[in-house]
Amino acid sequence: MNALEIHCISKSYGAHQALQCINLSVPSGSRTVIVGPSGSGKTTLLRMIAGFEFPDTGRLSFNGQTLVDETHEVPAHQRLIGYVPQDGALFPHMTVAANIGFGLSGKRAVRHERIAELMDSVALDANMANRWPHELSGGQQQRVALARALAQQPRLMLLDEPFSALDTGLRATMRKLVGRLLADAGITTILVTHDQSEALSFADQLAVMRQGRLVQSGDPQDLYRYPEDEHTALFLGEAVVMPARIEAGWAHCDLGRVLVNNHRNNSSATIMLRPEQLHLVDVRSASDGAHGCRAVVTERDFSGNSCTLTVELQPSPEGELPGRSLMVRSSGLYAPPAGSVVHVSAMGHAHVLSRS
Ligand code: ADP
Ligand code: MG
Repeated sequence: MNALEIHCISKSYGAHQALQCINLSVPSGSRTVIVGPSGSGKTTLLRMIAGFEFPDTGRLSFNGQTLVDETHEVPAHQRLIGYVPQDGALFPHMTVAANIGFGLSGKRAVRHERIAELMDSVALDANMANRWPHELSGGQQQRVALARALAQQPRLMLLDEPFSALDTGLRATMRKLVGRLLADAGITTILVTHDQSEALSFADQLAVMRQGRLVQSGDPQDLYRYPEDEHTALFLGEAVVMPARIEAGWAHCDLGRVLVNNHRNNSSATIMLRPEQLHLVDVRSASDGAHGCRAVVTERDFSGNSCTLTVELQPSPEGELPGRSLMVRSSGLYAPPAGSVVHVSAMGHAHVLSRS
């Protein structure tokens, strides 16, 4: 069942259209990630769901109840939606415990116990209860903000770039902790980020935004593998994009013949492969008639467990042009050195972009 339904939400600030007819369904209990470059409208959309901004047109509903449409508005405090803003926004003049307990009612002892529970759930040490926000690290501040939002027992949690201030190691740890915590509590979550690897790792459902539009949504693996256009392909990771002629299920391109996932013949298609789909072998061990082509390794960027190679393809027999350069991911231990002559072939299918 879908928890949140977003129907053609639009919003302009003066002449600038921040959101252009956004449609998205968020399944109950899911982790939906909205990813897009800075300025694409992610925060505006999240604030609209929370009830801090109002759309010019469109409708939002949650579990069948209208939150906002042209005639009706449920105020933010009645939506039971938790919101952790981009900067955490802790009250600077309140201790950790007071921040977390801000919206809690009831007897002092009960509140105290609930605050301790919430601190424990976000892995904050009990002795931090009396600290001030400025005495906490970025990761600890984010956890306090999350505990404060959880205290309201929300039906939906909105997280705006919650890990962006953290360094890489802590980021991954926090992402796992928060993901597990929200899943255990059965809270539907929407996370916003501009970081593609974070998006791919956290999402059950991924929605890509660009310039106020939602350009594609779906399963993260599908979006990574089958982006609709080159822009989305490159936003979600490194990609090899090249022109091709499609005939009878094969792409004829600078790499020779490559299988494709779209069998419609097309003399001017654009195909995409991920660098990890390209496979290199020493040219002497390539079997005769193997698909693929010859290339020379021109650059080698070693980063421990993996190595990114730039290879220059042998120019096509009919072409005078220099060969196309491609990026190939190889194991760090077995990467051929620069200058090696190799045979490059594609594993699996190339994806035919529906828009270039
Ligand atoms: P993101 O979170 O993806 O970085 P935002 O939603 O913050 O993007 O902003 C989208 C666009 O809308 C930006 O161009 C931003 O300048 C503009 N915008 C957002 N809020 C306002 C506002 N209150 N007034 C005017 N322009 C705004
Ligand atoms: Mg933002």
